Amino acid sequence: MTNFTRDDAVAVAAALRLPTRPFINGAYRKTTGGKLLESVNPATGKAFAEIEACSISDVDAAVAAAKAAFTSGVWSAKHPAERKAVLLRFADLIRANLVELAVMESLDSGKPITDCLTVDVPATADSIAWHAEAQDKLFSRVSSTDKDTLGLIVREPLGVVGLVLPWNFPMLMAGWKVGPALATGNSVVLKPSQMTTLTALAMAELALEAGIPEGVFNVVTGSGAVGEALGLHPDVRIISFTGSTEVGKKFLDYSRLSNLKRIVLELGGKNPAVVLADAPNLDFVAEQQAFSILTNMGQNCASNSRLIVHKAVKEELVEKLVSVCKGWKLGDPLDPTTQLGPVIGENHCKSIERYLDKGKSEGARLACGGNRLDRDGYFIEATVFDRVTPEMTIYREEIFGPVLTIIEAQNDDHAIELANDTEYGLTASLYTTDVGKAHRLSRQINAGTVSVNCYSEGDMATPFGGFKQSGFGGRDNGLEAHEQYTEVKTVWMNLNAPSRS
Ligand code: NAP
Ligand code: MG
Repeated sequence: MTNFTRDDAVAVAAALRLPTRPFINGAYRKTTGGKLLESVNPATGKAFAEIEACSISDVDAAVAAAKAAFTSGVWSAKHPAERKAVLLRFADLIRANLVELAVMESLDSGKPITDCLTVDVPATADSIAWHAEAQDKLFSRVSSTDKDTLGLIVREPLGVVGLVLPWNFPMLMAGWKVGPALATGNSVVLKPSQMTTLTALAMAELALEAGIPEGVFNVVTGSGAVGEALGLHPDVRIISFTGSTEVGKKFLDYSRLSNLKRIVLELGGKNPAVVLADAPNLDFVAEQQAFSILTNMGQNCASNSRLIVHKAVKEELVEKLVSVCKGWKLGDPLDPTTQLGPVIGENHCKSIERYLDKGKSEGARLACGGNRLDRDGYFIEATVFDRVTPEMTIYREEIFGPVLTIIEAQNDDHAIELANDTEYGLTASLYTTDVGKAHRLSRQINAGTVSVNCYSEGDMATPFGGFKQSGFGGRDNGLEAHEQYTEVKTVWMNLNAPSRS
């Protein structure tokens, strides 16, 4: 992809075949309600496609198709190695369509094209392949019994899996969930965010081409009402949701009010990066933390939006960070040199602007940025607020934009106390060159992933999810994701029943 230019991206965009209907039971289907969704390009603020939105009866049809496919055994009863082969083909087809999928994702979400080409699309394929590869290497267990008994502990797929997804990593979140859900034999009904529907629909078509049977991978289009219909549906056995804490909590109600379906929630974050006085090279720390808050325009549940810095190194680090942030190139997301594109939409942009105003009015020091750009689309400058205090709104609430807040710690204990002073607990970073401290303090931080001397979410092999109000009920990624989509069964056999004669 080294020679890929903006002109190439524009040419691919002009030639894209954009899906316009939900994908139900193996085909794009006409909806019954007549409602339309606009696909808006965040770089221009203009609609470039219209998609039919599902009615509740369309959702019912998708769930019925998924249930029928599951019950028939056409996928659920296949040998795991056969499912693996099909899923590996699916991953290969995603890779083969890299450029088209990347451009589609960039147009619909505003993500920089280079990120789509190097992260979103390839990591989606990698996730599906990883879970496919794992599936036929996982064994059931046998309990310890006497010689006349056999106790089997087996895992079985749940049935119809509902996936309700956010707009910030549309394809990648789909990949994180579809991979293990399909590898374990379930059927899926996926609801993308109404703001980023296109790539999920394109994935469903590729899944069919790869050999995933009709009805096993469905995509329903529409707003939160479609997510609610899935949440309340009596034939959906699990909802795996990624999105805000506020909406995620509603799924616990949907479950309670319907069929006690399993609920797994991957939610928001206000993640800390703790930088101690003995941190490694501060240029390195500044690069990493600028990346953490600016990548995907800060619209990342795992971004470190609270930088907690020991007073001995704070001034030096702030200076370096501001310089790195100013160097991030903002611009047209289809230009491969762009690092910072637009945020997702007008409402979200306004919400970030309100936080910028709050930061200024509540007395934080604006070290750089702080404004929306006066141009079409939804562009916000890379922003750093220094001298933030725990009482300030920008320190407490998830802004979900390119806005870093910096707070000074007096000593190590104070730094950890600040890190844990939040209702969230998704990820955290810790910078220290003292190996003892690295071990001790990483265990004291309440977060699902703590990265030491780097900014990282781990990789496909390590579970990802939140403590406290950042998560509930399970983990994405790693073998833990397989547990999310399976039920444990005990089979208890008497091997010595008396004969009838
Ligand atoms: P969101 O508003 O909570 O929406 C998530 C999904 O829920 C969307 O598909 C949305 O549909 C749907 N939805 C909205 N209202 C609903 C309702 N009443 N009932 C059922 N479904 C409903 O989240 P978002 O704004 O898309 O994404 C940003 C949030 O996701 C942030 O808080 C971020 O931290 C979190 N996130 C977490 C992770 C993680 O792994 N922990 C990863 C990425 C993002 P519509 O969009 O069509 O309205
Ligand atoms: Mg869009």
